[in-house]
Amino acid sequence: MTLMYWQRDLETMPRDPLRALQLQRLQDTVARVEACVPFYQSQFASTRFTAAELRTLEDVRRLPFTTNADLRNHYPYGLVAVPPNRLSRLHTSSGTTGKPKAIFFSQRDVDQAAELVARCLIMVGATADDVLQNMMTYGLFTGALVVHYGAEKVGLLVIPAGPGNSERQLLLMRDFGTTLFHCTPSYALYLADFMERHGVDPRRDLKLRKALIGAEAHSEATRAKIEASLGIQAYNSYGLSEMNGPGVAFECEHQQGMHLWEDHYLLEIINPDTGDPVPDGDPGELVLTTLCREAMPLLRYRTRDITAIIPEPCPCGRTHRRLRRITGRSDDMLIVRGVNIYPQQIERILMAVPELGRNYLIELDGLDEMTIKVELSPAHFDGHVEHLVQLESRLVDKIRAEILTKPKLQLVAPGSLPISEGKAKRVIDRRVL
Ligand code: ADP
Ligand code: ZN
Repeated sequence: MTLMYWQRDLETMPRDPLRALQLQRLQDTVARVEACVPFYQSQFASTRFTAAELRTLEDVRRLPFTTNADLRNHYPYGLVAVPPNRLSRLHTSSGTTGKPKAIFFSQRDVDQAAELVARCLIMVGATADDVLQNMMTYGLFTGALVVHYGAEKVGLLVIPAGPGNSERQLLLMRDFGTTLFHCTPSYALYLADFMERHGVDPRRDLKLRKALIGAEAHSEATRAKIEASLGIQAYNSYGLSEMNGPGVAFECEHQQGMHLWEDHYLLEIINPDTGDPVPDGDPGELVLTTLCREAMPLLRYRTRDITAIIPEPCPCGRTHRRLRRITGRSDDMLIVRGVNIYPQQIERILMAVPELGRNYLIELDGLDEMTIKVELSPAHFDGHVEHLVQLESRLVDKIRAEILTKPKLQLVAPGSLPISEGKAKRVIDRRVL
């Protein structure tokens, strides 16, 4: 296969000129927020920092962090860096509780976000012959619209299907020969399950080849399950509204880590407790600074997402460093009976068991009781009771070995657990601690 690039010069730029470009863009960004964003003016004043002192990329550490709380406290317009008549789009974060975070785009920001998505699509071999079914939520959430605009740039036919209604999704896939789709990993799993229950064989009945899956943390085992059940390749797509939404980091055809577009984002991995940088390759919290955003530049934004840099160069020739699969948000962590647990540790085990289906739910009740409900796969639903009892105890042992606490386990019928239209809700915490 010949390698394809959307912006080859930028994607394969040697590290030194890339760093020089980053420094110049960082200096411009910092000078701009110093000149016109009162929030950053007061932050700089309190640490006696001036933009003129920023001489190297390492000086980024002198800048203040920007947090989730800063965005909420200065809602809606507090971090905007352009006059109101330059704003052309509003998105909000998909957070379901409390005030949303308002994210503004200028026309140039809209265009640049689409360019980055175009890079991602071309990187995984999409062409103008592809038909993309976009099953993310259209609206205030960045997920669907930003990918939509990027796909149009590459010349794909985009079906703005939106989420849910699996029957209609299947109809669209069949009638219009969908080759690519974009959705959350949990919906991809659900759809695979739906097809199995309705006798649809995707290899025989559909033309699917690839999927872009993102917006939720998911394990390698989940990816493997999606790929095997749908006969496709699934690429991990990472983004967040604060950084334009999708198209921040994306896997290339090697599927080993996600290239983060470093000409647009300055990347740091820090120890979330101390704020200090961690050595390359060590896990920590991803911190991003926008280098090109016009309407709402953000300095050292604390994503709370836990990942690590893959320091080795990638065989695809792109020089932008790769991130490991996000293992979750620092605030996803559950503390159960004094033990720190990430839901992904449980997901990884469940998704690697062929007898299990594709949906699960973790419930926390009473003082510290964990119940894991997991659907059986349609093919194993009629299994003998004896077999199920064995499966149950095998699973409990595996999970206990991983999370060091013993959960209750309930094997339930395929399709019986709730699914959500946007991001999956995997944990219900009803504890009265
Ligand atoms: P919200 O902050 O309300 O969830 P966003 O839609 O901006 O709103 O979500 C961005 C977040 O989604 C990221 O910070 C990250 O936690 C999660 N996310 C997005 N893509 C991925 C991915 N590929 N893997 C893991 N987590 C992801
Ligand atoms: Zn690569």
